[in-house]
Amino acid sequence: MHNIDIQLVEMTLDVMKYVINRITKTAPELGQPKKEEELRSLVGETITSAGIGGEKAFDLFKDVLIKATVPIDHPRHLAFVPASPTRAAIMFDLVTSASSIHGAYWMEGAGGIFCENEAMKWLVSLTGLPEPAFGVFTSGGTAANLSAMVTARENWRKNKDNLNEKALIITSSGAHSSIKSMAKVIDADVILVETEDSMSAEMLSNALKELTPHQRKRLFAIVATGGTTNAGIIDDLDGIATICEQENIWFHVDAAYGGGALASKLARPLFKGIERANSITIDPHKWLFSPYDCGAILYKNPELAKEAHSQEGSYLDIFKDEGAHGFNPSDYQIQLTRRVRGLPLWFSLAMHGTDKYEWAVQQGIELANLAGRIIQDNPIVELVREPSLSCVLYRRKGWSPDDYRNWTYKNHRDGFALVTPTKWKHQGAYETVARFCFINPDTTESDIRAILDSMK
Ligand SMILES: *Cc1c(COP(=O)(O)O)cnc(C)c1O
Repeated sequence: MHNIDIQLVEMTLDVMKYVINRITKTAPELGQPKKEEELRSLVGETITSAGIGGEKAFDLFKDVLIKATVPIDHPRHLAFVPASPTRAAIMFDLVTSASSIHGAYWMEGAGGIFCENEAMKWLVSLTGLPEPAFGVFTSGGTAANLSAMVTARENWRKNKDNLNEKALIITSSGAHSSIKSMAKVIDADVILVETEDSMSAEMLSNALKELTPHQRKRLFAIVATGGTTNAGIIDDLDGIATICEQENIWFHVDAAYGGGALASKLARPLFKGIERANSITIDPHKWLFSPYDCGAILYKNPELAKEAHSQEGSYLDIFKDEGAHGFNPSDYQIQLTRRVRGLPLWFSLAMHGTDKYEWAVQQGIELANLAGRIIQDNPIVELVREPSLSCVLYRRKGWSPDDYRNWTYKNHRDGFALVTPTKWKHQGAYETVARFCFINPDTTESDIRAILDSMK
């Protein structure tokens, strides 16, 4: 064997050892951020003209840098929207990288795209969107929302009257920040329907009545949320669908976080009306146990997405000719060159079966309900609202915002848990409250009790 090959084998073994060790750890060390100067002084210069060698670089990563990250899959990481990728999906993420598949066009990526599409068929089936609905995997919910907005806006601009109009979107105050942010990207205005709970059909129809005729002309999409990121609140999707159909407005459902719950037969009725959407965002990297990054955008009519996104270019034509025999993911979202990021989800689904996914999602909902009951029985805390999907908002009686902050930092510093406070708006006033978001099915009742005990 050449020297170089021995090095490669050693590095491969080191990497595999690390990976196996990491994915079998059920509660990996909860790291913490360090200042950039501190990290630099700990690792020194890593990019040099001669290279520092793989062993050294990997050691620095294992001994220093990984410790300055927070493992999102820790069973007591209940902040933001955590994640809990399956081991199968993580291992297949490695396989995806090793296979060097270009996921833009069928011509090059057919076998990989086939797998992604099998997983996509399952996602579409969960939504109940009718044929010929289909979708593609994106880098995340933000890219999925943007891809949908571009499609909707281009469709609206087919009417030549709208060519010179600035586009307008209506969504609710509970919508994710990416909606406003992506509206900036496409230079659209946003009107927010103020609500402290879900956006009802009545609220939306009142907002429509308040539009000037010119604003009404500019309105091209309504964005409803299928599970707000903060509290798991689902808008009245069915009522909003009816209005969108009557008014001939694109209906987008942002279910980046909540969409995973569609896998649960018990939760599915909460999303009634989602099957009437023109487009739906679901993030498998949130509640469908995929590693980062993996979002998805689903369209009721994929042809409209193709009209909006298909890229032209002399060097691309060859892909199109050959690719015409198959499905080209690049035609349906904003990205050209892309990883076949749906592949880890496909492998994990194929290995475990969809029943296992239903169980794991249902587990998140049950953990939220269990936490709700434990909170009700505990005199020092109280629920702010009933648990919704896998989110629980609750207050520690008598606590100020500083108390919540100190509690979060202490638990994190102690390597015990990462649970962050959030703001909840009620009767016009914002209150700092505590929040759980459950994703990891391995979180236990004693984890929940221990976190509540840390509030004493
Ligand atoms: C997380 C989230 C997003 C953004 O998704 P990314 O994958 O972080 O880009 C959008 N909408 C909702 C409702 C979300 O929860």
